Amino acid sequence: MTTAVWKSALPRLLTVILIALLVGLATGYAAVAIGVALAGTLGLNYYRLHLLEQWLRHRRQLDPPDLSGPWGDVVALIVRIYQRKKYHKKRMLEVVREFRELTSALPDGIVVLTGDRVIQWFNPRAGRMLGLRRKVDFGHRIDNLVRNPDFQNYLDKGDYSYPVVIRKLTSTDVHLSLQMVDYGKGQKLLAVRDVSREILVEAMRKDFVANASHELRSPLTVIVGYVDTLADDPLLDSDVRLALQEMRRQSARMQAVVDDLIELSRLESGASEAPYVFVDVAGLLSLMKRDVLARPQRTCEFIYEEESEEGLLGAESELHSIFSNLIGNAIKYTPAIGGRVIARWWTDATGGHFSVSDSGVGIAPEHIPRLTERFYRVDPGRSRDSGGSGLGLSIVKHALQRHGGTLHIESTEGVGSRFQCDFPESRLARRG
Ligand code: ADP
Repeated sequence: MTTAVWKSALPRLLTVILIALLVGLATGYAAVAIGVALAGTLGLNYYRLHLLEQWLRHRRQLDPPDLSGPWGDVVALIVRIYQRKKYHKKRMLEVVREFRELTSALPDGIVVLTGDRVIQWFNPRAGRMLGLRRKVDFGHRIDNLVRNPDFQNYLDKGDYSYPVVIRKLTSTDVHLSLQMVDYGKGQKLLAVRDVSREILVEAMRKDFVANASHELRSPLTVIVGYVDTLADDPLLDSDVRLALQEMRRQSARMQAVVDDLIELSRLESGASEAPYVFVDVAGLLSLMKRDVLARPQRTCEFIYEEESEEGLLGAESELHSIFSNLIGNAIKYTPAIGGRVIARWWTDATGGHFSVSDSGVGIAPEHIPRLTERFYRVDPGRSRDSGGSGLGLSIVKHALQRHGGTLHIESTEGVGSRFQCDFPESRLARRG
């Protein structure tokens, strides 16, 4: 710590004035002596100020002036501040260089954006993956350079809790996962990852399941045909007949699984959105009610409340699948005696709604989030006995997603369940 400049300057000035006073008293010209001393001091200070200014102007070429006294203290102070600044600048540059090296070495791409989606910086990998050019594309909006409807939707929605996968424009088998991250003061970071391999593996898995199901379907139809004919043959031994009837039950289950797998594969392999074709929901549900009432086996009471004549824009087979799976499940898991299932279709300002409430076995809360997983069954034995494939609700979820809809499940064990499908307003329509 240096002492304050005035603390060393003041005694010096007083000493000069005192000496001048003594010389003045000795010579009889006190005022002149003090005047000369003050003028000399002022001149000297101006000279030192000049040296300081010269050094500050040409700091890079000149060494600091060798000044004593308060001017020396000022020079020392400036040198220290300058050195500190130089150190921080060097450190900053090192940090920036390390950051660039680090982001260049990253296997993922990173694009730094302003709040208005304007590109500020990107690492070489992001440039390669998104086809951005360094310098040239700085200052341009990312959505003007990466032109993709899914990416545009993702940006417009503003929900960045999940990534969006896009197919690279220039290539059919390169898929990129893009995720926006908010940081700092309204700034954004776009993380880009090449997920082509994951997509390929997923496509292979889907193809395998679809192909295997198709391959199983034909031989299974033949087996079911023979078993059906034989199972009711009165000439057969009762033991053999019983065995054949069990075979018939099991092969029917297998057929249900294969059919549902094919349906699921079909939903997964098509476009991500269902077509916009008018479907008369009330008509569809009336037909389903007729089918339920015509079932040969005894079922619980079934009530259908139609509260809207509006229909939906979608794929009829998929909507049929949604409604029939939910109604079928409700009837399956509700006792035939004393049980009741109510299906409702209504519309309001938010869109179309279909619900199925039952007074059946209900579902414990821990199972509810997992019900739409493939082959997830609360009570596997019961589901199998009733011929369930364990895929019904997965199909419902998929088909609903393709219509922009969502599924809500409420249930109390031993009391009953309520499954509600909400369709967006954009899918509502009137005939004609
Ligand atoms: P499943 O073919 O086994 O019925 P789903 O995917 O349709 O398969 O249903 C998954 C599981 O959800 C069923 O095994 C059953 O445990 C439960 N579940 C579905 N609907 C109901 C319902 N209405 N009441 C009680 N449990 C149900």
